Amino acid sequence: MTDTVEITSFEGLDPRISILRAGSEVDAMFVRTQRFDVLIDTLGTPALCRQALEKLCVTPGGKPLVILNSHMDWDHFWGNAALRAFGPIIGHVKTQERLAHPAARAKLAEKSGQESCFHEVELIGPSITFSGDMKLHGGDLTLHLLHTPGHTPDHVAVYIPEISTLLPVDAVEDPMPCVWSKDPDALFELRRSLRQLRDLRALVVAPAHGRTKTPEAIERNIAYFDALERRVAGIDRKTLQETTAPETIPSLAMEDCVPVLRVMDDGETAFYRDFHQRNLIATIRERLRQTEVA
Ligand SMILES: [Zn+2]
Repeated sequence: MTDTVEITSFEGLDPRISILRAGSEVDAMFVRTQRFDVLIDTLGTPALCRQALEKLCVTPGGKPLVILNSHMDWDHFWGNAALRAFGPIIGHVKTQERLAHPAARAKLAEKSGQESCFHEVELIGPSITFSGDMKLHGGDLTLHLLHTPGHTPDHVAVYIPEISTLLPVDAVEDPMPCVWSKDPDALFELRRSLRQLRDLRALVVAPAHGRTKTPEAIERNIAYFDALERRVAGIDRKTLQETTAPETIPSLAMEDCVPVLRVMDDGETAFYRDFHQRNLIATIRERLRQTEVA
């Protein structure tokens, strides 16, 4: 777990947007508009969130701050306790279900047992929720909050049309995003969300992980899921039904299905192998469901 937040950017990113980078763990975003500032995600601990606010010179009583939780994955909202003095937090209505689920508490217990930096974390969810989409009218910039389920049921991405910039959070990832469950319906939603984001034709795309910044990342993610579908369709039903480790089937290994374009350490590689296995199982279940009727 990192203990430092860096305020950073990249060439081509509008100067009104800052990236709040917690090592290789996650990037939160800060957007300055004429009317208010917007904090998109609060990092993995209140300490990291406080550090980011200090570095950005954001204080209670200053310029109005709108806070958004993109989804209830720990690395995106466990900093919420640092924001009590700032005002309400916005999130999708499905954040409530996720927060109420025993898995939310179990994750905190697990991580608190491993590292003391999590002892201060409180499970605080959004106090303003919406369904469908929502717009934040900042004057010079409009932030479209787009419900984009699939990675998680409550996932929200942010599109800013005035600067053709998409902040897809975890819906787009290099080398691939991860589906919420092995249920084919979640896979269907993730692929639909990817197409929805692709159709925005944003010139700048800055996800929360993997430090990607090109719109091609979305196309690569779409191509990856298309390749999984095609490759799985080429394998007989019996093999698919009987396998317990589909990634060991020739042509279904991660390296066969997606070009890995950046240097990843062993930890990261293992992390994305898990993503791949999960995506693959959902794809196989979809294939088995389709061919059942035939
Ligand atoms: Zn994430």
